[in-house]
Amino acid sequence: MGFSNLKIPKICEQCEKPFEAKTMTTRFCSHLCADKNYKNRKKKEKELKEREKVLEKYVDKIAVLQLREFISVGEAVILFGISKSTIHRLIKRKVIRSVNLGERLTRINKLELEKLFSPIIIDEKEKQESELRKKYKKEDCYTISQVSEKFGANPSTVNRVIDKFKIPKEKIGNFVYVPKSEIDKIFIGK
Ligand SMILES: [Zn+2]
Repeated sequence: MGFSNLKIPKICEQCEKPFEAKTMTTRFCSHLCADKNYKNRKKKEKELKEREKVLEKYVDKIAVLQLREFISVGEAVILFGISKSTIHRLIKRKVIRSVNLGERLTRINKLELEKLFSPIIIDEKEKQESELRKKYKKEDCYTISQVSEKFGANPSTVNRVIDKFKIPKEKIGNFVYVPKSEIDKIFIGK
């Protein structure tokens, strides 16, 4: 009797249809679904990265645009991370209305775009947190669990200390990063 005889009822994570898996770790019903899922994930990662790039570049401008009701096509690109041609297509198809104030002076109502796309959100907190990346390199930072391990404090204590001393922190991927220098000052100096 080998493992190959195993039949584990599962739901495919891509097409959501039930199938019988041969191993516990199988997530998809077929190579096709596995491949589709991989491609989707890569696409999402790419979109996220592009969004982040826009965010870093326009951090101050976005904060201003968030307060405005009518924005230009170029500003919509910045604020929503979509392309100019997408916006022009939507205007042409009358999906969104535009006001033409002259050549190259098309203005779009921001609310209409918000119904279609999620804007790049920056609140004061996020703005402050992205400062972390400007000031510190990744290797100059600990993750919360690294702090916890190094100083023998449980993660909730670590988080309390971080908040109490207003240490800059930032979530990158699955981890929250904090600058080593700030942490060492507090935990070693204690
Ligand atoms: Zn499937």
